[in-house]
Amino acid sequence: MTDSIDKIVSLCKRRGFVYPGSEIYGGLANSWDYGPLGVELKNNIKQLWWKKFVHGRDDVVGIDAALIMNSKVWEASGHVATFSDPLVECVKCHSRFREDQLNGACEQCGGKVFTEAKQFNLMLKTFLGPAEGSENTVYFRPETAQAMFVDFKNVLDTSRKTIPFGIAQIGKAFRNEITPGNFIFRTREFEQMEIEYFIKKDTWQENFEHWRKEMLGWMEDVGIDLKHVHEIEIPAEDRAHYSKRTIDFEFDFPFGRKELYGLAYRTDFDLKNHENASGQNLKYREQGDNTSSGEEYWPHVIEPTWGVDRSLLAILCSAYDDTDSSRTVLKLSPKIAPYKAAVFPLMKNKPELVEAAKKVYTSLKKEFVVAWDDRGNVGKRYYSQDEIGTPYCITVDFQTLEDETVTIRDRDTTTQERIKISELDNFLRSKIRS
Ligand code: ATP
Repeated sequence: MTDSIDKIVSLCKRRGFVYPGSEIYGGLANSWDYGPLGVELKNNIKQLWWKKFVHGRDDVVGIDAALIMNSKVWEASGHVATFSDPLVECVKCHSRFREDQLNGACEQCGGKVFTEAKQFNLMLKTFLGPAEGSENTVYFRPETAQAMFVDFKNVLDTSRKTIPFGIAQIGKAFRNEITPGNFIFRTREFEQMEIEYFIKKDTWQENFEHWRKEMLGWMEDVGIDLKHVHEIEIPAEDRAHYSKRTIDFEFDFPFGRKELYGLAYRTDFDLKNHENASGQNLKYREQGDNTSSGEEYWPHVIEPTWGVDRSLLAILCSAYDDTDSSRTVLKLSPKIAPYKAAVFPLMKNKPELVEAAKKVYTSLKKEFVVAWDDRGNVGKRYYSQDEIGTPYCITVDFQTLEDETVTIRDRDTTTQERIKISELDNFLRSKIRS
């Protein structure tokens, strides 16, 4: 675990995890691009999540909805009227801040006088089609959640799921944040992984508890240091108006303890509102027996929500270890590490070693994402792979040519063992299986 965000930002830039966006044009404030290793890590996080919460369960199905939805969705959900933060301006230097995040003085000039707070809507607007008018104003979705309510009936009709069941989605969301910052922690464009879990009202407490545990289990799986995770029970006056209970999972980021994930009991607020606004029946009907039709009701909803970018940042902070002065190690779980292994020929100038190593590399590549390195000496290659979190380094040496074995070195313990080439697949498979 590191308490230095500068070390994380610098490693991310140096090794191709995350770069400043539009850098050759001087950048665009608070926009970030994921590089070759960053996109692997991010995809692995998303795939692991999907595997655990969609493929791994019988009661959750996924969707991938359009990012721009009919604006009536955001009117019905309350976002047009209330998705806003209180904006204040320093009267001296005109810097703008969120009133609820002010610490007394202006961070730019130290001024202590601010304008009255104005509610600033966080949704990003654009226009569809060539005319720019209020009739064709649309919004980039500020959360993925609403599509699960809007598509509820279609999913119900096509998936044959019965209550309790959930709809999951991973995708981009946009918020015109007043104060983005802290690297990828708060940006105006980010990704979410969300589940709306539909239940019977009287079961909400047990389902809330179930998802609380699932979220903790996820953090453990993915390598977020639980010693630095705090569950905060949000008091009624701070909860969204529709929520009867909310827990925030906060993490000790290097820049302070901040929200990582949220878990909310949203009651039947959303389906009820969308039914009223759309005129479509969004109730669920219990399966009746032959003589009676079942009870009809709006399901209640438990909503666990995860930020992808904040996950990646918490994972990097948890995994970063430079306590050994001779190396920096990213102790990433093999399940999400960008490369599962790296393959080296002991020496570059021995064609028979290079050829044998290439064979191992090509064969592993059919199933795993693996790196090839033949530069410098083996020590430098280990150093380089440790820094990007590659859990295993496989070296082909002269003994390989005799007995078809290789050395495999463990990133965290730095110990090496010899194993048969024919066992490599199973070895790696067992390490990345969840
Ligand atoms: P915050 O209080 O930090 O603004 P929030 O309570 O508004 O967050 P939610 O609406 O609950 O956040 O969003 C769900 C999740 O999406 C958050 O827990 C977080 O992981 C992620 N998230 C929200 N806003 C951003 C952002 N601007 N940049 C990156 N991730 C975000």
